[in-house]
Amino acid sequence: MPAHSADLPRQPGLLIILSAPSGAGKTSLYRALLERLDHVVASVSHTTRPPRPGEQDGVDYHFVDEAGFERLVEEGAFLEHARVFDRSYGTSRAAVEAERAEGNDVVLEIDWQGARQIRERVSDAVSVFILPPSRQTLRQRLEGRGQDDVTVIERRMRDAEAEISHYDEYDYVIVNDVFEEALERLVAVVLGERCRLEHRREVLGVFADRLMGKIDETSG
Ligand code: 5GP
Repeated sequence: MPAHSADLPRQPGLLIILSAPSGAGKTSLYRALLERLDHVVASVSHTTRPPRPGEQDGVDYHFVDEAGFERLVEEGAFLEHARVFDRSYGTSRAAVEAERAEGNDVVLEIDWQGARQIRERVSDAVSVFILPPSRQTLRQRLEGRGQDDVTVIERRMRDAEAEISHYDEYDYVIVNDVFEEALERLVAVVLGERCRLEHRREVLGVFADRLMGKIDETSG
């Protein structure tokens, strides 16, 4: 079932930035969003960090070495790129543009630095920040299965605090306490943005002209 009204073409799709400290549940929310709505796709970033167990090249990330990454930077292949946790990450400009041109909403799971660059370059980007419900929950989530020592966890807490400090640069902020509720809010943001006049002025202009009898209902 199409998740949008069949009568209105929806090109270009939205560009949705999703940022969060690790431990906020961003990845689970993002995956659930892709399952829940049609015409929402993930942007697969390039990174110089090594794959983690279970991660697939081309699916989770495009894994490249530092030299390969630098080449792509020089070619202007990235819509944004940044150093995060001492590794390079970047979003492919061509992939994002192709998906949007198809009418798909593209979700970028990127950090605050990338989000800033996108806001400067893409005027209609929509940005969402996910927060954990409390410091205690954040710490528990970062402790994971309790296998890491205190210094590792303290470092993760500091990284999380640094990311959280940028929450107020975003259009929307969602607190992820009860997962299903946070997902509802994220879905609501995407559906709401799909109705925003500014994103679809051209298409709506034609549609409204048909409704008002200014153009033949059966034409084009
Ligand atoms: P991880 O290595 O754990 O998958 O991701 C680490 C951090 O890098 C996360 O905060 C994630 O949002 C960020 N990240 C992933 N891909 C990109 C990207 O293409 N650009 C930027 N700026 N950050 C990214």
